[in-house]
Amino acid sequence: MLNGSAVPKQLGNFITEIKISMKNTSRRKFIASSAAVAAGTLLAGSSVNKIFAGTGNNQPHSHFKQEPLGYAYNALEPSIDALTMEIHYTKHAAAYCKAINEAAHTENLDVSKPIEAILKDISKYSAKMRNNAGGHYNHEMFWKSLSPKTTQPSAKLAEAIIKTFGSVDAFKTQFSDAAKSRFGSGWAWLLVNNDKKLLISSTPNQDNPLMDVADVKGMPLFGLDVWEHAYYLKYQNKRADYIDGFWKVLNWDFVSERFDKI
Ligand code: MN
Repeated sequence: MLNGSAVPKQLGNFITEIKISMKNTSRRKFIASSAAVAAGTLLAGSSVNKIFAGTGNNQPHSHFKQEPLGYAYNALEPSIDALTMEIHYTKHAAAYCKAINEAAHTENLDVSKPIEAILKDISKYSAKMRNNAGGHYNHEMFWKSLSPKTTQPSAKLAEAIIKTFGSVDAFKTQFSDAAKSRFGSGWAWLLVNNDKKLLISSTPNQDNPLMDVADVKGMPLFGLDVWEHAYYLKYQNKRADYIDGFWKVLNWDFVSERFDKI
């Protein structure tokens, strides 16, 4: 316990420090802004993210996360407009992410499994899990498959595409047809099946080729979102024009990397 004389002395020093600090407004502002920066750094830090990514009961709704976009909302213009990108990322994709966390909690999902393993058994889960695990996975891949400057397929991927479809242009035509003819909402895919063959397919809603319910199964290399929310603000009913624009922002480097890993 502090003795009788030490308390007033310490308290007096403390009050003096406060008075000095209060006199110096700019210093106070600096301290406040430094604290805010420090707090921001802490929240963005991996240790905090690890806590939020945990499976503990305190944070059951935050295991699955949206990764930051690798470019600005307007970086894909004119192919994909800024407002569409912003709403798509912050509203539609965010809603899938929120809902998969809810479903994971409700259904006691083993979140130590990779999401691909969950998708491969998706028929064992609820419709909410199917729609939102698919929605989350598909969009996280979609953002990475886009780039302000389109690239070219790697030599290895180009060779496989030419062998399978005749030419890269013939592939694009066939893929575009799959995307155009998907009735209602869904995705078109380039995938590699178990026989390591390249295939084009399309799926309804937020399904994808990893799912055990898919007609054509395999590892998707990229998908094109043909839900109206992906293009309607700019293109309205002209889905074909959106698909034409997509080829100008496809990140072939990302696609090639996925192909090389298979
Ligand atoms: Mn979408």
